Formats: sequence, structure tokens, C-alpha cells
Amino acid sequence: MLIYNTLTRQKERFVPLHEGKVGMYVCGPTVYGDPHLGHARPSITFDVLFRYLKKLGYKVRYVRNITDVGHLEHDADDGEDKIAKKARLEQLEPMEVAQYYTNRYHKAMDALNVLPPSIEPHATGHIIEQEELVKEIFANGYAYESNGSVYFDVEKYDHDHHYGVLSGRNLAEVKNARRELDGVGEKRNQADFALWKKAQPEHIMRWPSPWSDGFPGWHCECTAMGRKYLGAQFDIHGGGMDLVFPHHECEIAQAVASQGKPMVRYWMHNNMITINGKKMGKSLGNFITLEEFFKGTHPLLEQPYSPMTVRFFILQAHYRGTVDFSNEALKAAEKAYERMMDGWHRLCELKPAEASSLAVEDFGKRCAEAMDDDLNTPVVIATLFDACKLINQANDGSACLTAEQISELKSVFQTYLFDVLGLRDDFSGGENVDLEPYRKAVDLLLEIRKNAKSAKDWTTSDLIRNRLNEAGFDVKDTKDGFEWKVR
Ligand code: ZN
Repeated sequence: MLIYNTLTRQKERFVPLHEGKVGMYVCGPTVYGDPHLGHARPSITFDVLFRYLKKLGYKVRYVRNITDVGHLEHDADDGEDKIAKKARLEQLEPMEVAQYYTNRYHKAMDALNVLPPSIEPHATGHIIEQEELVKEIFANGYAYESNGSVYFDVEKYDHDHHYGVLSGRNLAEVKNARRELDGVGEKRNQADFALWKKAQPEHIMRWPSPWSDGFPGWHCECTAMGRKYLGAQFDIHGGGMDLVFPHHECEIAQAVASQGKPMVRYWMHNNMITINGKKMGKSLGNFITLEEFFKGTHPLLEQPYSPMTVRFFILQAHYRGTVDFSNEALKAAEKAYERMMDGWHRLCELKPAEASSLAVEDFGKRCAEAMDDDLNTPVVIATLFDACKLINQANDGSACLTAEQISELKSVFQTYLFDVLGLRDDFSGGENVDLEPYRKAVDLLLEIRKNAKSAKDWTTSDLIRNRLNEAGFDVKDTKDGFEWKVR
């Protein structure tokens, strides 16, 4: 499999450090607000990677953290802690805020059919590991204490190694960019970042340390928890492109400064989502939570969009390309997802022919090649639509498929549509319900309607069709009888 490595800026063949096993770490949410569209893209992107690696036979340990301390309002080392602020505003214990939004995040992820990671560590549960990391960096001479806080000495690090390998920035650029933002304060240098912050008296989230009662800098948690659960070197680290700088750049510096060598082999980043061409932001009034999407309650939304529509929409674009949400694009995705599921349902109903009228191409191979090419999900979707065309021909009688060909197609859909892309069939009413009796009942009603029509009993025929429509069924008359589906 080829994956694009942000570090080397090219596609590379994926070779795991340990045969048959993959360790992957993805930066999870900071749990101080409702999950929004920006959370959906990384979680879905890396869910597909997780699913595909498992499909390839790897034993995958997938770590996705919960940030519940240390993420400050301005980057790494300035402003109030986001969770503490929310707790103060809502008069709650910070852990109540973190728990509440973690639950909300899990609920949204379930709806989007995102599999839970293998381990979901919390930053507050790993304060000791973060302090150990700071001590190591300190011992190696890349940190200094200032007024009870500890900062990473970027200049010293840059002298010995190279700061900016991931983002392609150099130290002078970073210094210039930061000079605008804030003064030096306790830091020796604008580019330095906090490893440990001394807590102000009003700060409630605090832990003892050799330097002060305080809390770890935001970048520490991923380095400390990644190493704890995946080892000093592991395969994949992912996240949104907005995390490349400073978060992931700082993670690399922390790893090299503490253990002398980098921790991560492949860095992967998904591109961002815009809304009607604009960046999403609270101040822009286009900040849409996932729940608002699912219920259609935001003023920018013309209708609700189901979690599977959102998932399908995201997967229609390559993860490194931009995605722009608009009502038109979402409605198109909704239709496309429905068309795909129609294809699957028709496939399940196909009656096999004795002999085939055509050679069916290897759709499974095409899907695998697309996934192997840096997770090219749009090509997988296009391939499955090509398979749908063939299914439709078989359905209307213009092509014949043997039992073997049908079962081969079913296995392609099962593997790629459901297992790898992680789409769920929302039109069949859930996996655990046996729908056969209900299908037979609807079929029976429609048989009665057909007979009524033949007998020109329009009252009965209309009654059945109208009542089924009201109940959420779409009924279509065809040449040989009828077709129906749940809306
Ligand atoms: Zn992180």
C-alpha cells in the first residue's frame, strides 16, 4: 500500500516496523464543545485506514486520545484552558465538562459508524508520563525553567537537529510569525513552547510537579501517550492538516529531544472542510455541529442530513483534497448514497441465471488498487457505481449473471462498501432485525393492490398505495409488477 507521508512529501510504500502489526495514533478531540463537522473528517479518514489495515490482515493497535487538559485558548502556552473555561462558565467541575462532551463525541462517532479505537487515553490520566517526558527533555538540555513553568528551547534544538521538518518552516519564519502574536514573557524566545505551565491561583486543573503546581503543555500528551501505548517508534501518526504546525512539529521535537530519535514513521494528514467556501468558525456563524446536521436545525441547512449522507459525502473526496459543504453537494451525496444502496438491494434480490451473458470484470481488484493508492476512496465509490450499472442491467433483464458472479459481487460490496468504507445500510432497518417477514407483508399488500388494479378496483388500489406512502414506503409500478423501498 502507498501512503502519502507529510514528512517526506511523497507517497511511500507502507512497511510496518513489526511484521503483521501496525501501531497508529490519531489526535482526538478536545472535549469542551459539541462535536462538529471538523471532527467528522479526521475520525472518518482514519477509521477507513484502521478498517483497511485490518482488512489487509494487520493486527492494528489504534490509539486516539481525548484532550481534557492543557489545550489553551491560544496555541500551546497562552490563555485559559478550554475545558476549565467552559467549566467556569457553566459552573461545573472540569471533569463533568470533559465527560459530557466525550459522551457526545462517542454518540456522534457511533452515528457516523466510526469504530472505537483500541485505546482511548485521556491526557489527565497520563500526567506522570508527561512529567517524565519533560524531565527527559530537561535532562538532555532542551528545556529550561522560568518562573515555575518549563519551556522547550527551540533554538538549541534547531541548532542540533532541525526544527520545522514536518511543516517545512524554518526557525526564522516561526519567530517572525509569533512576534506578532505575543511578547516573549517568560520565554527566552518567541518560538519556544510550554512543556509545563505553572497554574495561576484561580486555575483549578493542577497537579504537583518538581517545577510547580501546574499542568502539562498541550503537545506533551500525544508524545507521552503515543510512546506509552505504541512504543518509542511506531508506524503512523495522523490528524487534521491544521495540526501539522505547531502541534505535530512540536511532537517531533519533543520525541527527538527526549529519546534522540523520531517516534513516528509515517505522518498522515487529512485536509480541512469548508462551508460554502469559507473556513468554519464560531465568529463566522457557519459553525455547524454534527447533531445540527443530523437534525437539520442550523439556519444554513435546508434539511437534515443523515450520518451516512455525511460519511458518504466525506468519502467521495480524497482525504488530502478539500471538501466544501453546501446544501447542493450534500443533497447530491444523499442521492448517490441512496442509489448505491439501491444497487446493493437489487443485487441481493437478483435471480441467478444458468449461464452468464458477459464476463464480469474484477471490481474487487479495482477497489483494492484504489485503496492501496493512498486510500483513494472516491475511486472505490466510482468502481462500486460501475458495479451498480451491471446490477441494474441484470435487474432489468438486459444482462444475465450466474450465481457465482452474483456472490462475487456481493462479496465486493460487503468488503468495500460496508467493511472498508464503513457505510451502513440505513434502508434495511438495522443489522439485528430480521426484516424478511416485513418484506413479505409489504409484498403481500402490493399483490393485493395489483389484483385490485386488474379488477379496476381503484379504491382499494389507491388506499394501499397511499397508506404505504404515508408509512414511508416508495412504491413504483413496473412493467412486470412493482418495486418498493423504504424512504
Ligand atoms: Zn495530538
